[in-house]
Amino acid sequence: MASMLTNPEHATRTDLLVIGGGVMGCATALFALQLDPNLRVRVLEPDPTYARASSALSAGSIRQQFSTALNVQMSQFGLAYVSQPETLLAVEGEPTPSTGFIESGYLFLATAAGMPVLEANHAVQREQGAPVALLNPAELAQRFAWLNVEGLAGASLGLGGEGWFDGYMYTRALRAKAQSLGAVFSTARATALERAAGRITHALTDTGERIAAAAFVNAAGPWARSVAAMAGIELPVFARRRTVFALRCATSVGHTPLVIDTSGMWFRSEGHSGTQFIAGWGPREEDDADDLPLEPELQAFEEHVWPTLAARVPAFEALRVEHAWAGYYEFNPIDHNALLGLHPACSNLYFINGFSGHGLQHAAAAGRGLAELILHGEYRSLDLSPLSVARLGEERRYVEHNII
Ligand SMILES: Cc1cc2nc3c(=O)[nH]c(=O)nc-3n(C[C@H](O)[C@H](O)[C@H](O)COP(=O)(O)OP(=O)(O)OC[C@H]3O[C@@H](n4cnc5c(N)ncnc54)[C@H](O)[C@@H]3O)c2cc1C
Repeated sequence: MASMLTNPEHATRTDLLVIGGGVMGCATALFALQLDPNLRVRVLEPDPTYARASSALSAGSIRQQFSTALNVQMSQFGLAYVSQPETLLAVEGEPTPSTGFIESGYLFLATAAGMPVLEANHAVQREQGAPVALLNPAELAQRFAWLNVEGLAGASLGLGGEGWFDGYMYTRALRAKAQSLGAVFSTARATALERAAGRITHALTDTGERIAAAAFVNAAGPWARSVAAMAGIELPVFARRRTVFALRCATSVGHTPLVIDTSGMWFRSEGHSGTQFIAGWGPREEDDADDLPLEPELQAFEEHVWPTLAARVPAFEALRVEHAWAGYYEFNPIDHNALLGLHPACSNLYFINGFSGHGLQHAAAAGRGLAELILHGEYRSLDLSPLSVARLGEERRYVEHNII
């Protein structure tokens, strides 16, 4: 079936040009080609090693515990892709893809002041069929002997459909699948966009190409603001550095869920030894500058992370940093949610940006939705219109409260 974009008269033409080949660009290309196998899709990605891409530097976790129904639904769709790549992303003649998915719940801790929000979120999640349970401090202490429950009034535990995986391997699997369907990946960076009559006509690249296309996608992650600026559009997406610490504990704590402390800090088991963990934190708003160098904030471990972790898990008094890395959240400070679809200022530049720390798990749902919007002019499966980038100009907000 010919879609809105295919034009058989121009055999060398690109129908859809995706700028950025991280998880969002790969997912968009893949779903667009699943909807229309004849589509000519090209993806510009300057770094096939993904050394600085968020998709490769991510903590790679998936949860159903969001405050907004749509975010729960997007995770539920994404779960199949991250947990069963061997069926959904298999490519004939290629090694079976794996994402190393480990199913394990998130555990959101709450003080008395935080309980009303935890309970409200719980109701949203249950309404969406998420397997989550509220625990009181006695139940918490019984279930997690390593946890100091002092100051806690309760917690929310995911009982299924949550866990973690390797973001780089997931991105590579989506990329390989998109390529197998015909997507062409070019090692190139978009440097400028040409406009005429409210549309983008061409993208210029650092390799000297001038590429015409019917539709363009901004999938440049933390760099999406600069791609939007090429079209004269101001996009509130900022590269905010987040450090992840890989830790080893002197004694075995055993397996932990992905714990979100009341301080906003998080940690979880890494591997199966019971002594290895990863942990992260978000700096205070006033310290959270844009585009900081991608170097881990090692001093933050002594100052903030370790004392907080040791207060919550006494065994973490004996903890050492084995290594650390930093990546950028592509942060939307306005309502901490994705900015999807068309901006009113341009009729053929589509956005898939601003996921604010939960994009990897939502890439499949967002990529499928954007492909529907591009090819059919509307969302046909999950209605993602609450996430429309146009909401910014309409003073509409779709706030996600459970940000980490
Ligand atoms: C430390 C950390 C922890 C995280 N934890 C989680 C988590 O637990 N769960 C979760 O779901 N999400 C998590 N995220 C968020 C998630 O990783 C991102 O939302 C997601 O990877 C964004 O994907 P992307 O494709 O938009 O961006 P990226 O992966 O950054 O890809 C964008 C690509 O665009 C390319 N690009 C840039 N400019 C141009 C240009 N001009 N032309 C062409 N290409 C260009 C870049 O080279 C890059 O490869 C985390 C992120 C970080 C940093």
